[in-house]
Amino acid sequence: MRAATETTEPALPSPDLLAERLLPWFDAHNRTELPWRRPGTTAWGVLVSEIMSQQTQVARVAPVWEAWMERWPTPADLAAAPTADVLREWGRMGYPRRALRLQECAKIVAEEHDGVVPSDPAELEKLPGIGNYTAAAVAVFHYGGRHAVVDTNVRRVVARLGGRSDAGNATSKADLAAAESLLPEDAATAARVSLALMELGALVCTARKTECGTCPVTDACGFSGQELPEGPSRKRQRYKGTNRHVRGEIMALLRNADGPVERARIDAVWTDQRMVNEAVAQLIEDGLIGTDETGRFELPSR
Ligand code: SF4
Repeated sequence: MRAATETTEPALPSPDLLAERLLPWFDAHNRTELPWRRPGTTAWGVLVSEIMSQQTQVARVAPVWEAWMERWPTPADLAAAPTADVLREWGRMGYPRRALRLQECAKIVAEEHDGVVPSDPAELEKLPGIGNYTAAAVAVFHYGGRHAVVDTNVRRVVARLGGRSDAGNATSKADLAAAESLLPEDAATAARVSLALMELGALVCTARKTECGTCPVTDACGFSGQELPEGPSRKRQRYKGTNRHVRGEIMALLRNADGPVERARIDAVWTDQRMVNEAVAQLIEDGLIGTDETGRFELPSR
């Protein structure tokens, strides 16, 4: 009987080899201009930066983060702020429900953790809006714990190191195990490797291109030099003309208004009345807007 032919994917590099290739490159290319990477940034500052960066480009996050941390440097400060001010400061970063979750998170940290952001990922994951990635990011980037920090960039880089063009749509246990297997034993070095993998995915090995010729891990990568397949996953998500666009216009109107706004002004933000009705209903349901006693619209009053 003939043995079945097996196709095996290239093995991932050893943690030592990866650290040796990656860390000198990271020291030279780390985006130290990002304000939350300054020495002295608190765990709260790191957590705020991670939530803001979940669905917004870091260049847009940076100025908002600076103003935010100056205004509300601790969880207790944000917990005590009027929610309307929190949404105004969030500005046009999009997905403003994150601002509401962040304020809920601040209240819990202030009241149940004496104002100290937990260092244990399991505790962090109990906070509103904090998933596996954000919990690990705070535990590693601020507290220096040894945990796999797996975001879209890291999943993609790890998949390519293992010979695949990209990772699947959602983080799987296999993704976490693969990222974990690349970490050196020493926690401080492991934290730097995690950050460096993320940086490599943001700058060199992106969703749209691979710069294998200048990549520091090119001799240890199973996908090095290969062409990326064409695919719909590489298309940008459309914003213009979507329901999210209409909700963004309504939020902008209320953020910039001096007081409560008549319904007629809301209806005027978009020509398709059905889309306006749908957006208003969703914003009310999400707790992002409300009405005063006369039925005019405003940001949440507390
Ligand atoms: Fe990505 Fe190419 Fe570097 Fe591999 S060698 S990690 S595919 S840029």
